[in-house]
Amino acid sequence: MATLPVYRWRLAPDGYATRRQLRALGLRPGGQDVAAQLERPRRRRGPLVAYLYRVDRAKPVRPMTPARMAALEAAMRARRTCPNCRRDAGYCIPRSLGMCVPCSDSFTDAA
Ligand SMILES: [Zn+2]
Repeated sequence: MATLPVYRWRLAPDGYATRRQLRALGLRPGGQDVAAQLERPRRRRGPLVAYLYRVDRAKPVRPMTPARMAALEAAMRARRTCPNCRRDAGYCIPRSLGMCVPCSDSFTDAA
């Protein structure tokens, strides 16, 4: 870490980006080590430091695969399915009711 190149704020060389900048590009550091750091001097306090990563070593943010998409949809469908009438309510079943609204209403009426 002591041998990291240090650049002045706004004078970062091309090809380097902070984690946030990578994220904006749809990239992530991808396990690479910090490649350089930026320092912005501040009065009376230590400099503000930002860590830079190499853009060419960054990896794309993990894409949504069909399998992940299917798992997500199944989970959402389960949350929308009323445990009482087994219908897809079209919305997430409220935890407080534990069933869809029509079922909950019919229970209330019966009581
Ligand atoms: Zn129901």
